[in-house]
Amino acid sequence: MGEVKDTQFQGAISPLFMSSSYQYDGVDVKRYPRYFNTPNQEGLGKKIAALEKSEAGMIFSSGMAAVSHCLLAFLHKGDHVVLPQTLYGGTYNFVVEEFHKFGIEFTFADGFTEKDFAKAIKTNTKVIYAETPSNPLMKITDLEIIARLAKQHSLVSMIDNTFASAINQTPADFGIDIMIHSATKYMGGHSDICAGAVAASSKHMDVIWNISKNIGGSLSDYTVWLLERSLKTMALRVKAQNKNAKKMAKWLEKHPLVAKVYYPGLKSHPDHLLAKKQMKGYSGMLSFELIDSLDPNKFMKQLKACKTIYESSRCGVYNFVSNTYKPCLIEPSRKSPSRNCRWFASFFCRDRRKGRFTCRFYSSL
Ligand code: PLP
Repeated sequence: MGEVKDTQFQGAISPLFMSSSYQYDGVDVKRYPRYFNTPNQEGLGKKIAALEKSEAGMIFSSGMAAVSHCLLAFLHKGDHVVLPQTLYGGTYNFVVEEFHKFGIEFTFADGFTEKDFAKAIKTNTKVIYAETPSNPLMKITDLEIIARLAKQHSLVSMIDNTFASAINQTPADFGIDIMIHSATKYMGGHSDICAGAVAASSKHMDVIWNISKNIGGSLSDYTVWLLERSLKTMALRVKAQNKNAKKMAKWLEKHPLVAKVYYPGLKSHPDHLLAKKQMKGYSGMLSFELIDSLDPNKFMKQLKACKTIYESSRCGVYNFVSNTYKPCLIEPSRKSPSRNCRWFASFFCRDRRKGRFTCRFYSSL
């Protein structure tokens, strides 16, 4: 599915078309990289759609390009979006720092129950958005609840499926409208690609495409081609990573220097049963907290079998550990999170001993 045919030489793999100009006369499709419709972009879009059991797929220049284009496609001035308490920091920043410029309102739900999300919905709500498992706390949001509320209130539902990957979780099975990925993670899988991907119905994708061609966050065809190659091993990689992370989570859970482990595959995880219901595997990502008396920076320096990283090219073929000082957990008691949340996050930034670590484990294929 989605291979570009090599009609000239019948090569085994998709040829790469780097052209940014295509003949105009007599063609139905006016191809141009920023229109997201070059042969390689279209081919990979079909693969993403198939993985996410959707009609259409689009590739973006980063995960944040995918997140922002999707949200801005369905939110206009005066509209409102409901989000969960735990989100990737970049998504949180985008909402909190940019939405006021567009006149878009937002509410972070007080908790994760149907009641919590329902309470946050207003008359002008247009989108309900979630990330499950969340980065970095591996919090699970119930996909059925999100889909049901979207249907009841005529909202568009969006799931950031990055930390699960389409191998472990297909939100379309639960009625979710739009699936978003930082393809920089599992899809790329080798820490050498920055990309984003979206899967949705053709109707929703038309809306996303309409704004995306104006904003212009398309990905170079060379990287699209590399991403297509990476996808061929994603299922194998993710399955091995699931296995390794579960082993590591169990080991960490018993370790005297570890205060808490966040991994939905552990029976002790508060959302274990929910994860079991909606995921086929529990992901290769986990996070943990060290006990207070241990300095996270010293800990990082002493690691031997892991690469320590600053940001997000996780889910590749190395063991990665990153120290996340900014857990993006929004205090439930805060009704209007923007200012207070930033304070809360920076409180964690200052308190280095409370650093959380996010790990990804090497898949021994
Ligand atoms: N969504 C999640 C869950 C992420 O973890 C990240 C990056 O870490 C992003 C989106 C943003 O992806 P990118 O860094 O490719 O823009």
